[in-house]
Amino acid sequence: MKIKVSTLTNGKHEIPFNINVKELKLEKPFEDDLSLQCKVDKSDHQIIINCDLAVDASFACDRCNTDFIQTLQNEFQIVYFFDKESADEENFNIRYLPEAETTIDLTVDTIEFANCSIPMKKLCDEDCKGLCRSCGIDLNEEQCDCKNEEINPVWDKLLELKDKLN
Ligand SMILES: [Zn+2]
Ligand SMILES: [Zn+2]
Repeated sequence: MKIKVSTLTNGKHEIPFNINVKELKLEKPFEDDLSLQCKVDKSDHQIIINCDLAVDASFACDRCNTDFIQTLQNEFQIVYFFDKESADEENFNIRYLPEAETTIDLTVDTIEFANCSIPMKKLCDEDCKGLCRSCGIDLNEEQCDCKNEEINPVWDKLLELKDKLN
């Protein structure tokens, strides 16, 4: 995923990448192709790169355990300065590009931002009703007659423990 900067003219350029996740050595949950749309703005002093990343991933829903595929998205900006003073060592998105460097490789950044796009909570749907805690039926598809009271998740573990003790 390289941008050849030495031959790039000043001004705005759109550079798209489409690459199979296997080539990036991205493993599960990632699937198929990753797309990275780069908007590159080059001037005499710097190159600003804005990237839109999209990639499919397959998960099992945290609530109902159904497998589903979600398109993960992330965006990031990287700025390369041609003089060392302008770069910011504290900020890894603001970098120094030595004159001798002819290309910018976005592979490592892409892998990192793809990994950051994995959600903490994996839900097949925001409104997924999950499984009935008494009979295990999928409440998205069927209803049951169990009387489930809303239980504060903090109590869940205690109730589980109580079940075990009984
Ligand atoms: Zn679900
Ligand atoms: Zn039930």
